[in-house]
Amino acid sequence: MKIVIAGGGMVGLTLGKLLRARGFEPTIIERMPEGAYIPRGYMLGFQGYEPLKEIGVLDAVWPEGREIAPQDGQAAVAVCIEVGKVINAIAEDLPVEYEHSVVDLVKSDDGRVVGVVIEGPDGQRTIESDLVIACDGKDSRVRAMAGMEAHYAALPEGTLAWMSTTPSETSFAMAYTSNGQHIGMLSWPQGSAGWRSIDKVGAEAALAPGLDAVKEMWTRLLPESRLGVEALESIEQVRYGEPELLTTPEWWTPGLVLIGDSAHFFGPETGISSGIGLGDAHALSEAIRQHPNDPDAACISYVGWRAPVVRPYEAMDPGRQRMIVAGQTPAGPGEGWPPEA
Ligand SMILES: Cc1cc2nc3c(=O)[nH]c(=O)nc-3n(C[C@H](O)[C@H](O)[C@H](O)COP(=O)(O)OP(=O)(O)OC[C@H]3O[C@@H](n4cnc5c(N)ncnc54)[C@H](O)[C@@H]3O)c2cc1C
Repeated sequence: MKIVIAGGGMVGLTLGKLLRARGFEPTIIERMPEGAYIPRGYMLGFQGYEPLKEIGVLDAVWPEGREIAPQDGQAAVAVCIEVGKVINAIAEDLPVEYEHSVVDLVKSDDGRVVGVVIEGPDGQRTIESDLVIACDGKDSRVRAMAGMEAHYAALPEGTLAWMSTTPSETSFAMAYTSNGQHIGMLSWPQGSAGWRSIDKVGAEAALAPGLDAVKEMWTRLLPESRLGVEALESIEQVRYGEPELLTTPEWWTPGLVLIGDSAHFFGPETGISSGIGLGDAHALSEAIRQHPNDPDAACISYVGWRAPVVRPYEAMDPGRQRMIVAGQTPAGPGEGWPPEA
């Protein structure tokens, strides 16, 4: 089977390794240069352990992280690692066409995807395919080129987030405020990050109280984050955002399948987006191994295995299902943000 993986992020690279281990030689197209990534801490949830274990990455990167909720005799539920260590370990010895973008799809008269047009420093060329696997992230251009539906759902709340280069005492903590908003922190050996939900007030109002007020609020509501948040030096290290969830009703069309963030994106409370995407890669590599000459059968088999795993996570995302709905209850004293004047 001629396979093109469009996007060499964590999911596309992992899929490339899993397919090579099963005897396939996929072409991986990645628009960024080799080794490029934005440094940050990253929580690898247990859903991603099996595929990374199979390609020899889990055991290699585990000592570089901090375990989250370790229990005697059992693997920790997650591990927090600097994301570049994971991406570089997956990419090692994997042939990838870096600095090339998928800019178009080639379709047959009956609408089947039969190739991609890629663009790089030497111009454009076409690659024939039996199956294109879109791993190009949440705002997937490949998905749009295939004409596949995507449903974005804006969360009813905004987020305030920070990142510092000082580790905190613990690897993870999260708490809920009395109006159902949440506040959390992560820490890896090189730094810490925090996030909390706030009313959708816009960046200017969210950052107006200033850095000292952010530090005071965070350490009071989530004392475990103290070392990390106190190390912040500038309000530039604090960001306001308005997260969106993504779901796609169909995951494949003849000749093309969506996996990872191009197929789904979960809310900030879950910390599962990459683990689910890595699990997608694992299931798809097995479906292709079982149907090496029939991409449609592989896609049907993939959806049959994967929908019962992924769809419940989508339906139960705490961003969609809350006992206390945003705006229903006022924040408790000292909990709201920005603080009342
Ligand atoms: C700030 C932040 C924090 C996060 N924290 C966590 C966390 O703690 N735990 C967790 O599980 N998940 C987390 N996630 C989600 C996680 O990063 C993703 O689920 C994970 O990276 C897997 O995504 P992916 O490979 O499907 O897509 P991406 O990581 O988005 O990779 C897509 C790749 O496709 C490439 N690309 C795009 N368009 C094209 C094109 N036309 N041609 C060629 N290449 C293209 C991009 O350059 C990119 O490398 C976080 C996300 C963000 C933004």
